[in-house]
Amino acid sequence: MGLFDDEAPDAPPPGPSLFGDAPAQEAQKAAAYRVLARKYRPTSFDDLIGQEALVRTLRNAFAMGRIAHAFMLTGVRGVGKTTTARILARALNCTGPDGTGGPTPDPCGVCDNCKAILADRHPDVVEMDAASNTGVDDVREIIEATRFKPLSARVKVFIIDEVHMLSKAAFNALLKTLEEPPPHIKFVLATTEIRKVPITVLSRCQRFDLKRVPVETLAAHFTRIAAKEDVAISEAALTHIARAADGSVRDGLSLLDQAIARGAEDGGEITAPMVADMLGLADRGNVFDLMDAVVKGDIQAALKISDASYERGADPGVLLSDLLGLAHLLTRMKSVPSLATSGALPEMERTRGAAFAEILSIPFLGRLWQMLLKGLQEVETAPDRRAGAEMILIRLCHVADLPPPGELVKKLTENPTASIGGATPGVPGGGGARAVANGNVVMQAAAPRTITFQDVVALAQAKRDAMLYAHLRHSVHLVRFAPPVIEMRLTEDHPRDLISKLSHLLEDETGRRWTIVLSTQQGEATIDEQEGVATAQARDEALAHPLVQAILAQFPGTKVETSEAPEAEPDLPADWAALVPPDELYEGDE
Ligand SMILES: [Zn+2]
Repeated sequence: MGLFDDEAPDAPPPGPSLFGDAPAQEAQKAAAYRVLARKYRPTSFDDLIGQEALVRTLRNAFAMGRIAHAFMLTGVRGVGKTTTARILARALNCTGPDGTGGPTPDPCGVCDNCKAILADRHPDVVEMDAASNTGVDDVREIIEATRFKPLSARVKVFIIDEVHMLSKAAFNALLKTLEEPPPHIKFVLATTEIRKVPITVLSRCQRFDLKRVPVETLAAHFTRIAAKEDVAISEAALTHIARAADGSVRDGLSLLDQAIARGAEDGGEITAPMVADMLGLADRGNVFDLMDAVVKGDIQAALKISDASYERGADPGVLLSDLLGLAHLLTRMKSVPSLATSGALPEMERTRGAAFAEILSIPFLGRLWQMLLKGLQEVETAPDRRAGAEMILIRLCHVADLPPPGELVKKLTENPTASIGGATPGVPGGGGARAVANGNVVMQAAAPRTITFQDVVALAQAKRDAMLYAHLRHSVHLVRFAPPVIEMRLTEDHPRDLISKLSHLLEDETGRRWTIVLSTQQGEATIDEQEGVATAQARDEALAHPLVQAILAQFPGTKVETSEAPEAEPDLPADWAALVPPDELYEGDE
């Protein structure tokens, strides 16, 4: 390994000691070992990883001599906010190797100011953690200190970390100084939660958003550090760490520390499975194997993989959430094929991922995603997480057998006799609701076509008379339809002008008077009622279909809904007048 030897060159020679050798040596080594995050903390803007925009802006500001008196650095933990603050403190105070230099974006690191700030012992650079100093008194101390000129620096720099933690009174006290800062004072405020910082404070600072560092940038950075540390670690292992770091250099480096410590125990190269094990991750290859099993519907293989990862100590939910991540990745690869050749992806994703993306459809991947999302919630609430995860996997394996919902609907509607698994189907009719609703009228009869009450309703729809249309469907119990006479019973809530509106509509369309007779007879159910019945009937028929039953068995809790057929433009007779029989033909009851 060599790491610890480098760090502890002065380890005592082997020999007996009062307390025994090994522990004493270990303790020395541990004490001498500096954590990577500290050892490789950037000391110049160029060393900052993944913050190019910030560095560019700061460089410009220094070049133009327009340096803000207060900075607000924001970003997730570990992206380099306090590191940036310290580099800024040196940039502002550096005097150059010969002691004559001015503020510079490239502090020399050798002048007295640089050295003192690097060593955290400059009297004019004050760091305060607002998380533990939230009160107004803490801020007052700072404000008091701003009244005095710097002891040895060019400007006093106050670095306040986690500034959002300050109390309201503390913010108010700070605000006054921020409004009219003495020329020899600079503030560098840092926060992970910018939204909790009052806008009055924000508006007085130059704000910099530090970005989450991309996985590939982190991986490249860790590769360099591993090489410097003379640590043998595989590329895949470093990618694991870079991913787990979630954009944070510091978090990634402390994971690398852990991996190195483990590797020191085992000797030899640090491998991806070792790191995956350390992170509690399922091995990447495993996830692809699992996807393979799910796609093939091979339950046995899927459960075997899940057993193995459980035995390795991986959480059952992690395996599923890795599968979820893979479903997302494959969907992206399908949508952006160039991803398969980009360097952003590790080797396995590029090769095996591309192969999957080739054969899997977007709808399949979408379904997989949804089921996994739901499944993950189920695992959280399951009394036995492992059992919960296994049930999800079994369910997923069955998805491979089932046609996607879109195709399913097509099968059910276009080909009602279609069946899956050889069962005799219960034939739900496509668009059943409408067919049944219209069962008692001859809507689609061949010419000579006769006018029906449905045509009248359709006419109101075609004329965009929404109120009339709605009430014809809702309020009319048809007793007899014999153009130009309509007998009907109206529901109690019918609008007063329904009859007159209907008369006008028909007269306008046909050029003759219609007789609308109010009846006390029961009549037919309203159209709304008929279609309600029809919808329920269509639903029952759909539920009885073996395919639907199979789905319900696989996915308990699935809701079956019959969707309304889309409102089509009404199919109206071309010439109403010609179709309405002459009056003489009508023999009224009265
Ligand atoms: Zn310097």
